Amino acid sequence: MGRPGPLTLRELAAHPVSELRAVGPKLEASLAEVEIRNILDLLQHYPRRYHDRTKRAEIEELKAGDEATVFAEVKKIRGFRTRQGRAMVEAEVFDGSSYLRVVFFNQRWREKQLPEGTEAAFFGRVEYRRSRLQMTNPIVDILDRVGENTGAIVPVYPQSGKAEVFTWQLRKLVAACLQKTKPRGFAEPLDPQLLDDRGLVDRTRAYRGIHRPEAHDDHRRAAERLKFDEFVRMQVGLVARKRALEQEQTGIRHAVDGPLVESFHSGLPFALTGDQKRAIDEILRDLAASAPMHRLLQGDVGSGKTVVALSALLVAVQGGYQGALMAPTEVLAEQHYLTSRGLLEELSVASEATLVGERPVRVELMTNRTGAAERRRIADGLHAGEVDIVVGTHALIYGEVEFGRLGVAVVDEQHRFGVEQRALLRGMGEEPDVLVMTATPIPRTAAMLVYGDLDKSELREMPPGRTPVTTEVIGPSPMERTTAYERLRTEVEAGRQAYVVCPLVEGSARTEAKAATEELERLGAEELAGLRLGLLHGQLPAREKEAVMDAFRSGALDVLVATTVIEVGVDVPNATVMIVEDADRFGLSQLHQLRGRIGRGGGESWCFLFADPSTPEAEARMEAVAGSTDGFLLAERDLEIRGAGEVFGERQAGFSDLKLGRIPRDEPIVLEARAVAEHILDGDPTLSDHAQLREEVEDLLGDAVEFLFKS
Ligand code: ADP
Ligand code: MG
Repeated sequence: MGRPGPLTLRELAAHPVSELRAVGPKLEASLAEVEIRNILDLLQHYPRRYHDRTKRAEIEELKAGDEATVFAEVKKIRGFRTRQGRAMVEAEVFDGSSYLRVVFFNQRWREKQLPEGTEAAFFGRVEYRRSRLQMTNPIVDILDRVGENTGAIVPVYPQSGKAEVFTWQLRKLVAACLQKTKPRGFAEPLDPQLLDDRGLVDRTRAYRGIHRPEAHDDHRRAAERLKFDEFVRMQVGLVARKRALEQEQTGIRHAVDGPLVESFHSGLPFALTGDQKRAIDEILRDLAASAPMHRLLQGDVGSGKTVVALSALLVAVQGGYQGALMAPTEVLAEQHYLTSRGLLEELSVASEATLVGERPVRVELMTNRTGAAERRRIADGLHAGEVDIVVGTHALIYGEVEFGRLGVAVVDEQHRFGVEQRALLRGMGEEPDVLVMTATPIPRTAAMLVYGDLDKSELREMPPGRTPVTTEVIGPSPMERTTAYERLRTEVEAGRQAYVVCPLVEGSARTEAKAATEELERLGAEELAGLRLGLLHGQLPAREKEAVMDAFRSGALDVLVATTVIEVGVDVPNATVMIVEDADRFGLSQLHQLRGRIGRGGGESWCFLFADPSTPEAEARMEAVAGSTDGFLLAERDLEIRGAGEVFGERQAGFSDLKLGRIPRDEPIVLEARAVAEHILDGDPTLSDHAQLREEVEDLLGDAVEFLFKS
């Protein structure tokens, strides 16, 4: 038998941590709690920061007011209560030059964390107290149990006091791993030349450098390489998937030059924008081809996505197929239904069953609220191919209904519409075309990660007739608020209309509806007395909702007091004022969506955000919305403020694998990784010459990937 080659990630993952001598059952359980189960987990549990022993401050040289890191041993520690009853822990630490007093308030656990003899880094500001130098509530990183010998640069690991896994333990375990793996080293998925060209270190050096750096440059370069690995793996998977889909021949060749789409466009009360035309062209090209469409349609609120989506659905209908429009919530589905029905009212399709040879396009709505009899009727119609377009929630696709001939599906989504869901749409032998619409724009890099396997169409240009919106953040003072209500009244007197958006209420939709009802009564009695107010919330029956909307649309109501159900779909150009109560509790994109209801052509508009932000994040959000009305820009800001995990959900494909990589910060690396992925797959489409890379991509994407690399 030959000598075994370098260790692959798959091999590393196959060895449980319990194989390390230092890991007994108790530590094994603790490690499992922080998701470290095997050697690979351990190696990919990267340090959070590093301390440089060569840059430490000598206690002897500290002055009051300095901010410093000292490396010192705990000589004495005790916990007690102050005369005021506060829990206090006081320690004396010594670094060879002098003693320093370290004090913790309300951190009784420090006594247990820092027993005498512990060596730790203490970072904080030094002050002069009780005739001595003192550090109060410093950041503490435990470095050594006495006798452990670490290098000049000490890594500090994310640790969990609760799970009782400490940084010094992790450091020891990782050291043991690196020792054990040294003879074989780590398998290299990328060509040496490719690494060389980009100044990237090899993987063996990277794992060593990130855990045991000898100089600062070591961990920086290691992180750069490991980040590149993360993004390349992901991009290879996405590009491979995209190409595999493009090669499928199971799609429908739709008849794109038909009378239905033409009469739809010519019947619109406006001309399409350039971007709409381009997006529709791109979609029609996909629809005509035999590879199924997998396209993402992005556009800011109000950019006119609906018309584009309906064009795609009508292509299906004019060729005798059916279209489905799926929304993430019932309210959204209902709104899509109302809008679509309005826009499609006059259209007919050819039919042999009628004397005139045509019948109206039949659009149906199907949500959880649809009654049983109605459901059956629609399901039958879909099965028989008599329903042309069905609008519903995503539940539609979970096997509930059977389409006679589904041709195009439009998915309006908030989250990733996965490969699995897409597979469910597959009909008998023919695969419907899929257009994914996002309610809010996604920054370019993020789209490359989350939708890297889709083609993209963008609506950047807004339809004409948008009017500027002035956004103001209004604090809790009654005076300021009065200004907002006065502006509202002035506008109503001038014949305009307004929205008041009620706070999000924790709990059920019912409590939210109740709160909105109370707010309506309060406003009617106080600030907005004398105006014609209407109420809209998710608990109203569909018919009542429609009646309220109609009244508002026709101008019979001055003010619509509503929950976020107005977020999407409501379209009343005459509305020029919006007040959002408790605005700091809304997300950035949600506020932007809400604000999109005004500035629709009725004249200069005002959006007042009633807010009392209690966190820096909330404050940043308010500032961002007040500062811009560009949805693409706001999406970038949102990503910066909240991070990708929050915006897209940690579980989104791809993000779970990002341990070092972060967007938007690492945008240049993502772009580079994309180019590299394309280059590799150009030369080696099945990755037959890149077995190691292929294995890693397969492990990343799981079962869904099988079809990708078939030759
Ligand atoms: P989105 O879904 O992207 O937020 P909508 O499709 O709801 O936007 O369109 C917003 C409004 O703009 C609607 O009233 C729609 O009828 C109108 N609209 C769409 N395209 C145009 C256009 N080319 N010119 C003028 N108005 C348009
Ligand atoms: Mg819309």
